[in-house]
Amino acid sequence: MTSIAVRSEYQMLIGGEFHSASNGATITTINPATGQVLAVFPAATTQDVDRAVASAKAAGRNWSQLAPLARAELVNKLADAIEDNAEEFARLDSAENGSLLREMRRDVAAGVRAMRYFAGLALQMRGTTIPSPSGALTYTVRMPFGVVGRIVPFNHPFMFAAGKISAPLIAGNTVVIKPSEYTSLSALRLAELATDILPAGVLNVITGWGAEAGDALVTHPDVPRLAFTGSVATGLLIQRRAAETTVKTVTLELGGKNPLVIFPDASLDDAVDAAVRGMNFTWQGQSCGSLSRNIVHVDVYDEFVERLTAKVSALKPGLPDDDNSQTGAIINERQLEKVLDYVQLGISEGARLCTGGTRITDGELAAGLFVRPAVFSDVHVDSRLAQEEIFGPVLSVLRFHTEEEAIAMANATQYGLTASVFTENLGTAHRFAHQVEAGYVWINDVSRHIPGTPYGGVKNSGLGREEELDELLSYTQVKNVHIEHSSAATI
Ligand code: NAD
Repeated sequence: MTSIAVRSEYQMLIGGEFHSASNGATITTINPATGQVLAVFPAATTQDVDRAVASAKAAGRNWSQLAPLARAELVNKLADAIEDNAEEFARLDSAENGSLLREMRRDVAAGVRAMRYFAGLALQMRGTTIPSPSGALTYTVRMPFGVVGRIVPFNHPFMFAAGKISAPLIAGNTVVIKPSEYTSLSALRLAELATDILPAGVLNVITGWGAEAGDALVTHPDVPRLAFTGSVATGLLIQRRAAETTVKTVTLELGGKNPLVIFPDASLDDAVDAAVRGMNFTWQGQSCGSLSRNIVHVDVYDEFVERLTAKVSALKPGLPDDDNSQTGAIINERQLEKVLDYVQLGISEGARLCTGGTRITDGELAAGLFVRPAVFSDVHVDSRLAQEEIFGPVLSVLRFHTEEEAIAMANATQYGLTASVFTENLGTAHRFAHQVEAGYVWINDVSRHIPGTPYGGVKNSGLGREEELDELLSYTQVKNVHIEHSSAATI
């Protein structure tokens, strides 16, 4: 791999200073594409999390009093500093999570875009005036919560670290963020840039294991607002644990098993291209929005499967910094085993493995965690292969006969994050968009996120919407103020 600015050791940012864990514990991070050790960083203890929350709470007194535009200016300044170091962030992410370097460059740009977007919305945190009796004035103002706890996953480390601290900060909260234990370096490097720009304690970055550092943040009584991005299982646990200490507002961006429905009137070329793009093989399928269930009309099913198989077989796994690579490495051994287990499960459930699904054990990729992208056909809607999020490069193709059946199949999982339909028929498209149980729907497109559009799920895919104004407002609480100013009023 090209040399990158990875140091051998990183520290956490607590109260404007860099710290090891209170007990000295560390986590070793490994490049999944090569198996090489990259660096060590702290495994925070409950005591470290307590200190981070206390620093954030203390810093909140001044930060919340700053004018919103002053906060926006500082967030924009941080975005400038990130842009000056963009290549380093992309390389840290790619080295740590095994995704293609060119995709991680896009992630850095997306993180910066999110920061500037929320900075630009700073003056939109408006209240209202409520018609009141003569002599009175009633209005609302939006107040920050205080300390926001932010927990993010491994698949877009920097984009989430940068993008998801922005709305809470602009809204006047201070933040304690915990990145994934598999991909913490870019968040720690972001912390280093932030110390020159943000007042001490406004942003704290703690690293460590979910069950210890994450749980300490979730259950901390001085963290009234939590936002989590990750798996359904962890999201459910966080909801339960959060409720055990104090009343907290919790929003959840969770997993998906998202449907792409292809009607027979759609261009098959476009549909096959979309199926490959929509599965996000560029991130080895490790994306919450991946359209991992293709639900295809019986009239075009066989041809679709044949063309899809040819296209997916031709995808070239490779080292993340090689411009010719089309898909990278799986995040860790556990996830690799999970992917391979699901391939065996699919076969045992009677689905047909059309291509891929095996680990690459020869050549330069043998030292890393690479799996050939897989396509299964003849997948039954009730099978575990069709029901469970694999979060890997395994695409299932299901067959439908009627529009009603297609929509029922699309909705037949616990998830409801994204969905897509390919058809030339306006009526079919609208009925699908209306009836599908998903937070984000594409018609004749996949994967595209236009900035400022709400992202989030229904059912077990989550609670709340992000990436637009509602995300910013979700970090505020409405306070009503009634003023009695009639001459009769006495104080
Ligand atoms: P994960 O749930 O295993 O971990 C996510 C984060 O939660 C990590 O930082 C982890 O340390 C922390 N965590 C784990 N246990 C915890 C606990 N008990 N208390 C507090 N924190 C804890 O998820 P992952 O494997 O890192 O990421 C993959 C999952 O994330 C997939 O399900 C994917 O669909 C989902 N995801 C959702 C979105 C979205 O926007 N909806 C985006 C990206 C990823």
